[in-house]
Amino acid sequence: MSDCLFCKIRDGEMKANIVHRDEDVIAFEDINPQAPTHILIIPTKHIPTIDAMEPDDAEVVGKLFLAARKLARDRGHDESGYRVVMNMGRDAGQAVYHIHLHLLGGRPLSWPPG
Ligand code: 5GP
Ligand code: ZN
Repeated sequence: MSDCLFCKIRDGEMKANIVHRDEDVIAFEDINPQAPTHILIIPTKHIPTIDAMEPDDAEVVGKLFLAARKLARDRGHDESGYRVVMNMGRDAGQAVYHIHLHLLGGRPLSWPPG
């Protein structure tokens, strides 16, 4: 997708502080962090929304969670806890239509979210 911000980060056309990259998954720091750790974890494949997922995408979405766990452990959040969240569509405030897990950690997080 040539007009997708996160595809551009994947392809190196847009700068980002990339903290993990493998064949299926890329993770980079959010430009507007909402917690001491705020990392976005995306599939290399352009999938616009949870709603647009195909059955074959299930494996890579699982890998997003495994990457989140690794990054959270690396930052010492496995003891204190952390949150992973994915927004879908307008009411959830999805701003970038390339699915991404938010990994938030390093402070207490209130619930329910706004
Ligand atoms: P959404 O609202 O779609 O779930 O989350 C989009 C996230 O992308 C937001 O947290 C926002 O701060 C982040 N973001 C938007 N533009 C950029 C960018 O150019 N670079 C990075 N690293 N993050 C971005
Ligand atoms: Zn994309």
